[in-house]
Amino acid sequence: MSKNENPLPTEQVSCEICMKEIPASEAKSEEAAEYVMYFCGLECYESWSKQDKEDSESSD
Ligand SMILES: [Zn+2]
Repeated sequence: MSKNENPLPTEQVSCEICMKEIPASEAKSEEAAEYVMYFCGLECYESWSKQDKEDSESSD
């Protein structure tokens, strides 16, 4: 928790939901079938997670 961030350039990734660019080190990632998805935060992660759930539970 230092004020000095990592001096090395961090890899930027895009949030799967809102497309916001975030450092890979801060992103929440989820390994999908063939690639890794990144989320800027819990909100986006949950919204993706919900989507996925709704999809598989649509047979109500
Ligand atoms: Zn997001």
